Amino acid sequence: MKKIKICHLYGNLLNTYGDVGNVMAFAHEARKNGYEVEIVTVSIGDKFYSADYDFVFFGGGQDYEQRIVQTDLLEKKDELKKYIDDGGVFLAICGGYQLLGQYYFDAYNKKIEGLNIFNHYTENQDKGTRFTGKIKIKDAINNKVYEGFENHGGITHLSDDQKPFGFVIEGNGNNGSDKTEGFRYKNTIGTYLHGPVLARNEELCKDLLNISISNKTDN
Ligand code: GLN
Repeated sequence: MKKIKICHLYGNLLNTYGDVGNVMAFAHEARKNGYEVEIVTVSIGDKFYSADYDFVFFGGGQDYEQRIVQTDLLEKKDELKKYIDDGGVFLAICGGYQLLGQYYFDAYNKKIEGLNIFNHYTENQDKGTRFTGKIKIKDAINNKVYEGFENHGGITHLSDDQKPFGFVIEGNGNNGSDKTEGFRYKNTIGTYLHGPVLARNEELCKDLLNISISNKTDN
């Protein structure tokens, strides 16, 4: 049987607000399309090989867990970068999204190094303020509207070479001021939308699965 292999990156550590629901939604959609599904949690000390996966999911987390994964994450950098550059489907939410960039300053204003594969960087809001609540965005490429909720202390700035995933219709998104939300590069999306976003936005889930399927060479 044809198979879709999913990597849940640090699924035992970074999984706030039911972000694992994204893995479940993606797997459900793949099974509906006739695929067998294998889900592998790749965590601290585990090897990540880019060629092994059709979908990589990297969820959100508390500052504490983000700090715990930082050193191990850097050891996986080369293969993760290869996966991304090869056009693999990669979805990173909130804390995971922050860690794809240069750095994140946590709620105590302590720096957590990111993978530095992308140039966005994340600072913390003054006085422990957080962006919480409903968020609605419009996809920057196809204008589709997605909904979710956000809960982050970080404020993220994209660099000039980065394109947003979407534009904020309601809520705060990357930083509450420039209306950008997340970023997209090839088939990698970073976003602040919890939901789980793939369960709440079926079309996005289907679109990402279709890319995974078309990427496969053994269909
Ligand atoms: N700890 C990060 C922040 O507060 C990420 C939060 C999350 O992933 N939900 O910004």
